[in-house]
Amino acid sequence: MPPTRFVTDSSLEFLARRLRFLGYDVLTLRGARLEDLFERARVEGRTVLTTSIRRPRRFADVPALGVARGDAAGSLRALAAAVEPAGPPFSRCAECNTALQRRHSLEASGEVPGRVLRGARALHYCPTCGKWYWQGTHVAKIRAWLERALGRALGPPEDADPLG
Ligand SMILES: [Zn+2]
Repeated sequence: MPPTRFVTDSSLEFLARRLRFLGYDVLTLRGARLEDLFERARVEGRTVLTTSIRRPRRFADVPALGVARGDAAGSLRALAAAVEPAGPPFSRCAECNTALQRRHSLEASGEVPGRVLRGARALHYCPTCGKWYWQGTHVAKIRAWLERALGRALGPPEDADPLG
């Protein structure tokens, strides 16, 4: 069975970003109405992630998952227990949901700090928004938050491996 992919609006962006860090495919439609979310979910075979209890009748066939507003850690834990992610942790762009590409650190020359280039052989790159990702203090903080929310360790960072 293919992994469940989600669509949500910006009211759940904090949770959506953390789910993307965890490897879930979560598309955020900014400023979308509930009907827009259901429409996109139907077209792309996604599940609506929403805090709304309202479900438009003409979308009765479209899957939806209700989450509590303001409890991102609890929602993430419940969702992770029920649904497999689309990929490993830190494999998607937290901003735009695009699957990240592994790139040699030489390609990031001039775009990321020199200390990062010297410390990593491989970095991750978002081809949609041009953002570079690497294992640093920011990722360590996100990782700690995810591990606290899940109540388990995530495993070693992926870019510990040499570039293939
Ligand atoms: Zn991106």
